[in-house]
Amino acid sequence: MSHPIQAAKFLEDKSNAKWHDETLWFVRDKRDTSSKGIPEWENLRELASSIKDNVLSNLDSYLVEFEKNAIKNGIKIHWAKDAEEHNQIVLSILKEKDCKAIVKSKSILTEECHLNPYLEENGVEVVDTDLGERIVQFLNQPPSHIVLPAIHLKKEHISEIFHEKLQTEKGNNDPYYLTQAARKHLREKFLAAKVAITGVNFGVAETGEFVVCTNEGNADMGVHLADTHIACMGIEKLIPKREHLGVFLRLLARSATGQSITNYNSHFRSPSEGKEIHIILLDNGRTKQLGREKFRNSLKCIRCGACMNTCPIYRRSGGYSYDSVVPGPIGSILSPGIDLKKHSSLPFASTLCGSCSDVCPVKINIHEQLYEWRQEITKAQSSINAKSIAMKIANGIFSTPYAYKLSGQIMRGSLKILPESVTYSNLNTWGKERDLPELPKQSFKDWYKNNGNE
Ligand code: SF4
Repeated sequence: MSHPIQAAKFLEDKSNAKWHDETLWFVRDKRDTSSKGIPEWENLRELASSIKDNVLSNLDSYLVEFEKNAIKNGIKIHWAKDAEEHNQIVLSILKEKDCKAIVKSKSILTEECHLNPYLEENGVEVVDTDLGERIVQFLNQPPSHIVLPAIHLKKEHISEIFHEKLQTEKGNNDPYYLTQAARKHLREKFLAAKVAITGVNFGVAETGEFVVCTNEGNADMGVHLADTHIACMGIEKLIPKREHLGVFLRLLARSATGQSITNYNSHFRSPSEGKEIHIILLDNGRTKQLGREKFRNSLKCIRCGACMNTCPIYRRSGGYSYDSVVPGPIGSILSPGIDLKKHSSLPFASTLCGSCSDVCPVKINIHEQLYEWRQEITKAQSSINAKSIAMKIANGIFSTPYAYKLSGQIMRGSLKILPESVTYSNLNTWGKERDLPELPKQSFKDWYKNNGNE
């Protein structure tokens, strides 16, 4: 997997790339306006970060507390060490309920576990009920953004998909018309499903309850119509007390979409009579990440997507160029921890401008961790590659004054006479989109010799 190669593919369609960049910047702009609307914004970020620090330092005891209280509330708790175990647990519950079709609200965790293909292979129909997720599901694609799953598609494209899948009027791109068609289609699925699956935004250790945030109300619709609710939760999603929700819910909505509050913040505490709630607590590498001192902060992430919307690389390369469930800056920290070889190019997909760290509501030092990963990856890469050879040559030139002077003279002389086919060959990736700067007639040192006394 190479991010630059995937990004180059995305950039082939220049007008789409420009539109993607501008659309995400619009969301980032909304986030700025909304966050500036509350004077205590920076205090909230500080507080959220400290609460999460506390959670990560005491995760074992908070998990036990959460489990104990959830069981007291009548919820069934399951523990999964990895994605395979997680999926097996889901399937075993579905088998027990003789369920062949489920509805699922947005859950990055189930994407991480590749739950959809697993269930489908086992004869279960999975319907993603978040509108964006349903659109990409029609295309057999994963989400390209954790909050805005179909942000890479324009309304014209969605109209074509709906015409094919939902028999809507050909060429009708009206968002209201398309949304109504999706609504009608999903309603039938909601009514038929016996089991609903959701993710979890926050689990409250003190009470054993959990909160699911959606803008479309699809999680609630699925859960209230089904007899069984399966909530899939990463072990890092805990907060100690219910009162802490006031901090996180304010930060999450503003950071994600610039809203003051998410439309539906649904609290689930205990099952209604005759119904069941199951929570699957998943590790899948999180404990390992907790043990990596330089990267453990990444577990504070509340999946708001703000670091993606602000990132100049994400905006200009699209979510799929990361080939990772969580793309963008935070994904570039998490993914190498799961598969270093596959995702070794991701920490380099950053300008290290620090904008991601500046917008992160839980103050994760994202760009510093990306820089740390670069060092780890460079150390781990035993093979000699073009970059390491170039760096060795540069090191030799920069550390020897005579070689530095001579190479300057050669470059100034040769670049004037070499044809463009050589100066802009494939070796000059920098020059692909830019002109080389005009060369000075002499080096600064030579200029200073002649003019230094003036
Ligand atoms: S790292 Fe921070 S900004 Fe990025 S998704 Fe997570 S919480 Fe949001």
